[in-house]
Amino acid sequence: MTGKQRSNKIQVPQGMFDILPEDQPFYQKVYEVGKKIASFYGFKEITPPILESTELFEKGTGEATEIVEKQMYSLKTKGGDSLTLRPEFTPSLARAYLEQGMISLPQPVKMFSFGPVFRHEKPQAGRYRQFYQLNLEAFGSRHPIVDVEIIYIFYNILQSLGIKKLIIELNSIGDKECIGDYKKLLVRYLKKNESRLCPDCKRRLKTNPLRIMDCKQERCKQIAAGAPQIIDHLCKECHNHFKKVLEFLDELGLPYNLNPCLVRGLDYYTRTVFEIIAEDELGRQIGSLVGGGRYDNLVKLFSRKNIPACGGAAGVERIISIMKERRLVTAEVQPPRVFLAQLGDAAKIKSLKLMEDFRKAGILVAASLDKDSLSAQLKNADKLKASHSLIIGEEEASRDMVIIRDMVNGRQTTVRTDKVAGELKKKLKQQ
Ligand code: AMP
Repeated sequence: MTGKQRSNKIQVPQGMFDILPEDQPFYQKVYEVGKKIASFYGFKEITPPILESTELFEKGTGEATEIVEKQMYSLKTKGGDSLTLRPEFTPSLARAYLEQGMISLPQPVKMFSFGPVFRHEKPQAGRYRQFYQLNLEAFGSRHPIVDVEIIYIFYNILQSLGIKKLIIELNSIGDKECIGDYKKLLVRYLKKNESRLCPDCKRRLKTNPLRIMDCKQERCKQIAAGAPQIIDHLCKECHNHFKKVLEFLDELGLPYNLNPCLVRGLDYYTRTVFEIIAEDELGRQIGSLVGGGRYDNLVKLFSRKNIPACGGAAGVERIISIMKERRLVTAEVQPPRVFLAQLGDAAKIKSLKLMEDFRKAGILVAASLDKDSLSAQLKNADKLKASHSLIIGEEEASRDMVIIRDMVNGRQTTVRTDKVAGELKKKLKQQ
């Protein structure tokens, strides 16, 4: 067996992982902070299906993109439909916008989503095959303030999660008017350097030359650095749009870098493209947390309707990894302070009913209902460092009573089952 082969045991798919109980508070925190801030700015939550028609992504994300060419998890249903696990949210939301008639709502229609996306990429640190995204989209406005609003909201979400050192990488890739001429210029330049390009970029030269600008191979980077820059070739409207974006960012005091090599991987982008990068204390870039931009031509691909739009997505695992590293959330959940021990079947069912009384009274109680030995259960109470134990033995069950034991001084009182929640609340308050 080669190192690459996996054993015959059933395992989680490569590049995917279980989100364990101890990690849930991190996901919840990112979701809650994201939702709170996004809804404040008028973004309403929407949850599209995880599976969509394959055509949606082929058309929307673009056939010449890395995602569609190599990374989609696609399947044929028994009914013969071609479906794909979403590799990103944006095409789904454009579909929902059209299909649900959101075009007749006051514009822009602003939407927030949170959930898993799937890309068959080479797994490595910070790069998974199933990962969560927090996604924002605004449909129906051409105004540059919308681009900046989206960047600002993501920036504020990251700040609120405690990730303070951030830099916004920014570029404009123009629109259909200017990108065509620029691409010709770029291809002419790249052809002169073709022999030095990596094999992927040699292919991109024919399919998606813009993408060569953000190739990570050192030689390609050097070639890209000497290439003509799109911002020098923007048409008047795109130039003015970008100028406004920069002015607004300046007014807000947000830190940004103009990055002529930032083109983003997808076909639908027009004008503004951005990423938000986390930095360490020394100002070194440690990972791209958010990516997005404007996509004025996407909706037109599905409907011929001319609906401008802008959006972005944050990578939740990358955010969580920084939160963990910097101990930005203590993921500890408050342990219960009360343990309920029981003996015999009658007591077990009474205990289960009692748990519901405690739940309604807001008292956290732990129990091991399947256990029969009282001493084993009281050991569990000790392990939990419970302040009180409740005991229902056979006799108590038959008399509808419960013993409350103070675990610090060993004092016991016996109370009626229907009074125990109230009594316990008083005792816990006195502590
Ligand atoms: P994208 O949808 O490619 O623009 O990515 C938006 C954000 O999602 C990135 O800035 C990353 O934080 C995150 N991301 C993208 N691809 C992956 C991946 N394979 N694994 C984990 N996070 C990712």
